[in-house]
Amino acid sequence: MRLYEHEGKKLFADFKIPIPEGKVAASPNEVDSIAKELNKPLVLKSQVLTGGRGKAGGIKLVDNPSDAKKVAEDLFKLKIKGFPVEKLLVEPKLDIKQEIYLGVTIDRLNYKLVVIASAEGGVDIEETAEKSPDKITRRSFDIDEQLYTFDAIGIAKAVGIPSELVKSAASIIINLFKVFKAYDAKLAEINPLVITGDGKLIAADSRISLDDDATFRHPNLAEMGIEKRHEEGEMTPREQQAEEWGIPYLDLDGNIGMFPGGAGFGIMGNDFLHYYGGKPANFMDSGGGPSPERLAKMLVLLDDNPNVKAIFGARFGGISRCDDFAKGVIMFLEDHGLSKPMVCRMTGNMWQEGVRMFAEAKKENPELFKQFEFHGIETPIEEISKRAVELASEAEGGK
Ligand code: GDP
Ligand code: MN
Repeated sequence: MRLYEHEGKKLFADFKIPIPEGKVAASPNEVDSIAKELNKPLVLKSQVLTGGRGKAGGIKLVDNPSDAKKVAEDLFKLKIKGFPVEKLLVEPKLDIKQEIYLGVTIDRLNYKLVVIASAEGGVDIEETAEKSPDKITRRSFDIDEQLYTFDAIGIAKAVGIPSELVKSAASIIINLFKVFKAYDAKLAEINPLVITGDGKLIAADSRISLDDDATFRHPNLAEMGIEKRHEEGEMTPREQQAEEWGIPYLDLDGNIGMFPGGAGFGIMGNDFLHYYGGKPANFMDSGGGPSPERLAKMLVLLDDNPNVKAIFGARFGGISRCDDFAKGVIMFLEDHGLSKPMVCRMTGNMWQEGVRMFAEAKKENPELFKQFEFHGIETPIEEISKRAVELASEAEGGK
C-alpha cells in the first residue's frame, strides 16, 4: 500500500525527520485559508499515488499567497498519470540549495535491506542509477541488523553532505531506517532531501510503500487517519471480491479454474496442469476448514470468471471432511448453477459419503450435473488433471 506524500510526512514527523509545516486542502477555498494563515511564498503539491508529479505539472510554486486559490483551481482539474487530484498539500516554499536522494528498500536478490543515497536527488533515481551509477551510494544491512551512527555518517559523507550537516543527515538516515522497519515498509524514500539556503536539511517529499500483509500490525496507522486501501491496478476486481470474502485468491493467466482442497494441493495441482499442457487461471486456498457457504463462494469466483473454461476440483479430506465439501459444491450447483465443465475428485476423510451425496443429488436433479464429473479415490489425480486440461481445450474449440 502506497502512502500519500502528506501521510508519509506524518510518519517522518513522528520519527523526528524534519518536514515543512504543511496542511492538506480538499478545495480551492481551503487552500485559500491555509495560504492566508501561512502568509508566505508557498508550494502547492498534488497528492496522488504516483511519482513524477513535478514533471507532470502537479507541483506549483506560488510567490504571492493571494494567488494560491487560483493556482489550486487549476491543480484540482488535473489528472496525473490517470490519478485525479483530490487533495493538495500546501507548504511554505523551500529555498532549495541542493536536492539529495535518500531511500531504504529491500534487495530481494540478496535478502538484505539497502540504504541508497545520491547527491543528485530530485530526479528519478532509476535514471541516475542507469546513467551514472557511480553517483549512487549503497549500503546493505541484514534484516535484523542495526544502522549505527557510524554507518549513517559514512553514507552522509559518501554523498558529499557538507561537514556541518553530516550529523543531522546521519540522524535523518537512522530515522528513515527506523520508519522503514517500524512500519514493515517495502520502500521509504525522501526525494528530495533538501539543503536549504540557510543551511538546514528538510524532507521535501516522501514516498512510502508498505507491505499489505503486515498492515494489520500497525493499527496506529488508522489512528493517524491513514486508512488501508487498495491501489488502482494492484488487485483485479476478482481478487478484491475474494479478499472481501476472506478467500486467499490470485488471478493467473491460464484457463483452468483451480478449486483445490488447500494451498498445498493448489501448488501441486498447478504443477500437474502444466505437466499435462494446461494452465491454471488462478491460485486459491480454501483456508482451513471451509464452510459450505465459503466453498460455494469459491466456486462463484471461478464460474463467473470468463477466462475459466473448465474447473479442476480436488479435495483431500483431512480435518475438513469430504461430505462437507460435497455439501458446499451441491449448494453452489443449486443456488448458482455451473456454466462450464468441471471435474472433481475427493479422497480422504468421508470421501465415500461425499461421492454418495453427489450421486444422490444427481439422481434428483440430473440437469444440475450435466457438466459436472465427480470421482473418488479410484481415479488417480493424474487422470483428473489430464481430464481438466482436455475439458478446457475442448471448450476453447480444440486449440
Ligand atoms: P515528485 O515530482 O512527485 O517527486 O514531487 P516532489 O515533491 O519531489 O517535487 C518535485 C520537485 O519540485 C522537487 O524536486 C523540487 O525541485 C520542486 N519542489 C518541491 N517542493 C518545493 C519547494 O518547496 N520549493 C521549491 N523551490 N521547489 C520545490
Ligand atoms: Mn519526489
